[in-house]
Amino acid sequence: MALQDSEAPPGQEPLLSVDGLRVTFGSGSNTVTAVDGVTFDVHPGETLGIVGESGSGKSVSVMSLLGLAAGNVVGGTATFEGKDLLSMSKREMRAVRGKSIAMVFQDAMTALNPVLTIGNQLTEALTIHAPMSASAARDRALELLRTVGVPNAEARLKQYPHEYSGGMRQRAMIAMAMANKPRLLIADEPTTALDVTIQAQVLDVLRRAKEETGAATILITHDLGVVAEMADRVVVMYSGQVVETGTVEQVFRRPSHPYTLGLLRSLPRLDGRTTRLLPIRGNPPSARAQPTGCRFHPRCDLAAGRSLCSEQTPDLLLSAEGTRARCHFLDEVPAFRAATTVGAPGSEVQP
Ligand code: SF4
Repeated sequence: MALQDSEAPPGQEPLLSVDGLRVTFGSGSNTVTAVDGVTFDVHPGETLGIVGESGSGKSVSVMSLLGLAAGNVVGGTATFEGKDLLSMSKREMRAVRGKSIAMVFQDAMTALNPVLTIGNQLTEALTIHAPMSASAARDRALELLRTVGVPNAEARLKQYPHEYSGGMRQRAMIAMAMANKPRLLIADEPTTALDVTIQAQVLDVLRRAKEETGAATILITHDLGVVAEMADRVVVMYSGQVVETGTVEQVFRRPSHPYTLGLLRSLPRLDGRTTRLLPIRGNPPSARAQPTGCRFHPRCDLAAGRSLCSEQTPDLLLSAEGTRARCHFLDEVPAFRAATTVGAPGSEVQP
């Protein structure tokens, strides 16, 4: 049974429940564990942000549920609408992907088929799961392109992906994801390759897609600003593990894990009150060289060389702020947090 956050909607069954997921790459003595015991729930209609640096295991955690990661799932469970995702045949998984679960990737150019027009790809996405006449599919494709804000939609239907700009391609991919009114939308770094103005527009389209379909959303990103703006709850990952989870309000205002605190204090505040930014010292470990004990200990200022941090892996425990955080010294975090005045996009960290 997955850990329930105190703020999860009461009495509501999760749409997706992931518990103790483990994913490895390689074999024999070359095996590395990229995802180690990841647990989270997604409830109907909510947006869950999964945030972490590159290599934290955030994308692998989600893509391996759908058979889209190169690694091997070696442990854990994943239940979607009561069905075990991890034991599905390829055929069953294909039926789920694109219908009940739809995806938006970072790079629309590789996700879209370069030799088919956007119109053809949209009508194919529509008719593959729900047979309909060619004219009905075309009308719906047109409606979808208009919903995601593609101008001159009628003419744009006849164009190929390379004739679209980056932002327009993301819109087309979101239209495709909406085609079958999915229950869960997974967006993996959907705005990373775009410039700032276009990013805001694409986030707006994602919001519209969610409103129109009522789908729950998993937003995988390294960008805390995107999480602050879009998500209801957040899962923070570090070195293949969940280190903190809670509502966006809890995690951004009063983070209870030193890593989350470090991420937030390395970002500028929107109100300009930050006097200096404090990057986390050191670099994230590679999956081949994960530290013993708490994986964050070589970079953690709260650890202060204590042996417990380097020898024992902490559990995810309920913090005073209501989040769950993986730290041996949760009771010391409020004073540690108070020692720095820091900021985050769209929110603020308070002592
Ligand atoms: Fe830092 Fe130790 Fe807590 Fe890990 S367990 S976050 S090293 S204080």
